Amino acid sequence: MANDASTVFDLVILGGGSGGYAAALRAAQLGLDVALIEKNKLGGTCLHNGCIPTKALLHAGEIADQARESEQFGVKATFEGIDIAAVHKYKDDVISGLYKGLQGLVASRKVTYIEGEGRLSSPTSVDVNGQRVQGRHVVLATGSVPRSLPGLTIDGNRIISSDHALTLDRVPKTAIVLGGGVIGVEFASAWKSFGTDVTIVEGLPHLVPVEDENSSKLLERAFRKRGIKFNLGTFFQSAEYTADGVKVTLADGKTFEAEVLLVAIGRGPVSQDLGYEEQGVAMDRGYVLVDEYMRTNVPTISAVGDLVPTLQLAHVGFAEGILVAERLAGLKAVPIDYDGVPRVTYCHPEVASVGITEAKAKEVYGADKVVTLKYNLAGNGKSKILKTSGEIKLVQVRDGAVVGVHLVGDRMGEQVGEAQLIYNWEALPAEVAQLIHAHPTQNEAMGEAHLALAGKPLHSHD
Ligand SMILES: Cc1cc2nc3c(=O)[nH]c(=O)nc-3n(C[C@H](O)[C@H](O)[C@H](O)COP(=O)(O)OP(=O)(O)OC[C@H]3O[C@@H](n4cnc5c(N)ncnc54)[C@H](O)[C@@H]3O)c2cc1C
Repeated sequence: MANDASTVFDLVILGGGSGGYAAALRAAQLGLDVALIEKNKLGGTCLHNGCIPTKALLHAGEIADQARESEQFGVKATFEGIDIAAVHKYKDDVISGLYKGLQGLVASRKVTYIEGEGRLSSPTSVDVNGQRVQGRHVVLATGSVPRSLPGLTIDGNRIISSDHALTLDRVPKTAIVLGGGVIGVEFASAWKSFGTDVTIVEGLPHLVPVEDENSSKLLERAFRKRGIKFNLGTFFQSAEYTADGVKVTLADGKTFEAEVLLVAIGRGPVSQDLGYEEQGVAMDRGYVLVDEYMRTNVPTISAVGDLVPTLQLAHVGFAEGILVAERLAGLKAVPIDYDGVPRVTYCHPEVASVGITEAKAKEVYGADKVVTLKYNLAGNGKSKILKTSGEIKLVQVRDGAVVGVHLVGDRMGEQVGEAQLIYNWEALPAEVAQLIHAHPTQNEAMGEAHLALAGKPLHSHD
């Protein structure tokens, strides 16, 4: 640690996850002197317990499904089973490669990296390893951890969080997933591909309940076809151990039994006993409150990532970290339009979206001002080749811009890139229809959907 007590950094960052390290990298790039404090591993949840490991498991699951379904494509292969130790090795190799790269990047940008558990000790300092690290400004980026419910103890063996599910040394025969949000449906999808008999329990009326209802319904249909069971609209009441697993009881008395129970009901901020309240940082239910420039009420303190009540996504953390770094370096900071952030759920089939739902658009613009269009992937050559089904749904303000793009289908996560340009550049359907999309790609479906919305459908009916 190249730091002595007399050093005053331009910026001291507490937490080296997506939000914290992005702030560090951008600030250092802009010439600021940065200290980054991390108690565990640089990269945080996303790299070690979140985005990357889950996507590796889902990819292994996809390969298992492809082996099972190979005959449909005229290919002779047999699925013999999952070697979970080898799956973990593959996943861990991906993580360790990225981890090394990130460590090298932080070092090459001359960020002072301090390993240890930090605590905010004044509006301009963090105490770590018995030393005071001083800065002109402090960024809080301590992230989040899995939540549980009162009376539901996560034991790491039969009742587990996503952290445990990522290192489980076996493929459970049966599993209950409590929570049908992003994390819950991704694990349900990967486990089903591995051969687990999965039941999702979701208290709200739909899976992925924050998505457009059409996407939720398409996902439910696809999951039903895959044999992933789910119970919607009734909340969890209690869980108890059985001889060889767990029994879950819902508020209506219905019960489910399985070998493991994955608790995936969301994540809560890491902010307790870290000195935030003592230093007068305004908070709400553990979240640090910020304005659109990520400033807290304490002028020398900013906060980013899962610690603040915005979308809990790695790329949101990156963007918030960059915003803070640029503001502190004297550049013009532009507030984030959170509706314009692409959201992807990487289950099979994928669900992706950007902009607002049809329901929200009707609230904002009035029901008579909202036009929608659904383009079925059945008409898309590449989707047919892949044997995937799904839809692109567009939400448009009448005679105006496209304000929502909602996608369901395998690999649709990759299409959200164009969708976010359409939303964020307030494109009109006729403008997108003018752009030529490559044939045969799934991306072509985006072009076809806009051709149809512009009143000149090509491969779909008027
Ligand atoms: C299973 C799962 C799958 C996910 N999949 C995706 C996905 O596909 N795409 C996506 O965009 N997002 C995904 N996410 C969300 C994403 O991981 C988070 O939004 C992102 O990691 C938040 O970044 P952060 O920097 O705010 O917090 P974190 O990544 O949690 O980092 C906070 C860091 O602060 C450190 N820290 C905490 N307290 C202290 C302290 N006192 N002193 C020093 N260090 C401290 C922690 O050790 C941690 O490294 C997923 C999350 C999970 C759990």
